[in-house]
Amino acid sequence: MTAHTENIIKTGAVKGAALSAAPLYIGCHLSSVKGFENMGREALSIGADTFQFFTRNPRGGRAKAIDPEDVRRFKELAREHGFGRLVAHAPYTLNPCSATEKVRAFAYTAMSDDMERMEYIPGNYYNFHPGSHVGQGVEKGIALITDLLNRIIKPEQSTVILLETMAGKGSEIGGRFEELREIIDGVEIDEKIGVCLDTCHVSDAGYDIAGDLDGVLDEFDRVIGLDRLKALHINDSMNPVGARKDRHAKIGEGTIGYEALSRIVHHPKLAGLPCILETPNDLAGYAREIEMLRETAGK
Ligand code: FE
Ligand code: FE
Ligand code: ZN
Repeated sequence: MTAHTENIIKTGAVKGAALSAAPLYIGCHLSSVKGFENMGREALSIGADTFQFFTRNPRGGRAKAIDPEDVRRFKELAREHGFGRLVAHAPYTLNPCSATEKVRAFAYTAMSDDMERMEYIPGNYYNFHPGSHVGQGVEKGIALITDLLNRIIKPEQSTVILLETMAGKGSEIGGRFEELREIIDGVEIDEKIGVCLDTCHVSDAGYDIAGDLDGVLDEFDRVIGLDRLKALHINDSMNPVGARKDRHAKIGEGTIGYEALSRIVHHPKLAGLPCILETPNDLAGYAREIEMLRETAGK
């Protein structure tokens, strides 16, 4: 190291430059009905460079055939415009820890089919809700989830599966970081498993990200490990910390607030993670929120 660079580091000039150059990949949930190229163009039209989409009808279960030409055009677009990683979202009806065999069988069928389809767009993320144990108890629920994951995950797959942090409403699993840790511990091929942190959900689950972001990140790191954190859902919440409700609000219109959410997307420990808005908005609303959040970090 030269005396010059040493001096720059001491004065913090390099750190400042590195921070402003840190990539911020931000986008929102988009409809996949018209295919990948359409989502890519929609993303560009609102200033996004990543997005989330449902792999199939979120309430039903049928998946549309993938058009390789559409995928090829999308990949070209994504390369040209420097897109970050994408986040696919499993259907809401998927409950790996249901008490009903038929519901668990659907989770297996849909998820293994989704894993094959994800290989059309290799190297991206597949996020799912760990599920609700519906009275069977947390331990039984976690056992069913890890069992499913161990049947789904193949060593050759390029997709990393993400467990979403949940609000903990009803019998939802994943409201506590400890529960996600336990699931990860049960997964045999563990380099294919990560976590997606939803800001509304963690706040509703009782983690005060608005008041003590660094404390919550420290706890995440201690319990799960920050290296497992692969994506962020950026949502404001209609309810106070610990409400366990899961009602998303627009950025700046909820109990978390713009400043805190801006601090999260610009946090140096979270640099490079895809940030996905799931706020109640149309495309114009998402464009405004993306613009707001791309501005300099709130202090
Ligand atoms: Fe979700
Ligand atoms: Fe979410
Ligand atoms: Zn939610």
